[in-house]
Amino acid sequence: MHRLGADAGLYAPNISKRLGGRGTSLRASMYLQEEVFLRGFRGQQWILAWTDGPNPMIEEATDRAVEEFVEPLMSAEITTAFAQTEPEAGSDATSMQTTARRANGDWVITGHKHLITNAPFAEVVQVVARTEDGRFGVFLVPEGTPGFSRGPIQQTMLDDGQTGSLTFEECRIPHDMGLGEPRKDFSVPMRWINWTKARRAGMCVGLSRYCLDRALEYAKEREAFGRPIGSFEQVALQISEAYRKTWAARAACDRLLEELDASDPYENPDAATRADFASIKLITEECLLEASDVAIQVFGGLGLLKSTGLEHIFRVARNLRIPGGTAEIQRREIARSLGLLKG
Ligand SMILES: Cc1cc2nc3c(=O)[nH]c(=O)nc-3n(C[C@H](O)[C@H](O)[C@H](O)COP(=O)(O)OP(=O)(O)OC[C@H]3O[C@@H](n4cnc5c(N)ncnc54)[C@H](O)[C@@H]3O)c2cc1C
Repeated sequence: MHRLGADAGLYAPNISKRLGGRGTSLRASMYLQEEVFLRGFRGQQWILAWTDGPNPMIEEATDRAVEEFVEPLMSAEITTAFAQTEPEAGSDATSMQTTARRANGDWVITGHKHLITNAPFAEVVQVVARTEDGRFGVFLVPEGTPGFSRGPIQQTMLDDGQTGSLTFEECRIPHDMGLGEPRKDFSVPMRWINWTKARRAGMCVGLSRYCLDRALEYAKEREAFGRPIGSFEQVALQISEAYRKTWAARAACDRLLEELDASDPYENPDAATRADFASIKLITEECLLEASDVAIQVFGGLGLLKSTGLEHIFRVARNLRIPGGTAEIQRREIARSLGLLKG
């Protein structure tokens, strides 16, 4: 499915034309994602790159990294993973212990990462590490590099076998296999993090609409006490309220993404830009959690059956509140942009 998406030019349209993408705006990407996720999870979602595919950090790749990593990634011949989180450094990412040391011009990466999406399969890992002079960079470590090892799968509530740990013991890579130069601030890895927040807009709105459209249809058909259940006010209001919030989320994301597109959102984003990304993440994950919950409730016992397909979306919605920065960290970002919190 990834390759079909790549052949159709849909896999990673937000990547620049220079690297084989379409240079699509964040706002236009939202509508593409919404269209794809309006069909729920039937496999069609894999035509779009997820965190195992191309992301805006690759715009910083050197010529050598483009040839060895970016080109096969863009054509979906290989997949990747973004390895930032460590057992002792999650929300507090800058306290990470993974190091990138210079040795005869090469980089030597040492550290342990966990809860990494696609860790069991990635052919090349984008490792976030701290340099000896306290900068943060992202380094490309291919599988097979001496010292690279995968831990056992960390099975999450998604039960999909996609999450795991990775260990790098003195992994030596060429000097030009970094994604941009390491910086004193965290702006290089933040490109990936902010992109994952933005790309949730279309996914969450599409899935919310899918859940609610199904709930609406069922509420008109299913009868109880001699009437369609949708004619009971409590059922009708649950559905109509969730639709209202979905349309509000869609409108808010349209506006916020337009604002982000008008700036250079990944390059040293200011407090207001970071708050825009945080708002998109919070608004959409809350919207999907409610829409999937309402849909399950309307379907009654059938809603809890795996075969109905709604509990899967509910689990995904619940999951979304933690990766990519927890809901609390997003709220903190918004409060900071208002001058209420420091540090
Ligand atoms: C399915 C899944 C996929 C993931 N994929 C990836 C991936 O691909 N790459 C990657 O690098 N990581 C990934 N992660 C890790 C994820 O990003 C972290 O779990 C997340 O950032 C939180 O870190 P933590 O688990 O260490 O929780 P902690 O940071 O220990 O937080 C625990 C709790 O404390 C709260 N908290 C912490 N600090 C504050 C604060 N200042 N103010 C208020 N509340 C606070 C948090 O919000 C949370 O509720 C994934 C996780 C999961 C579950």
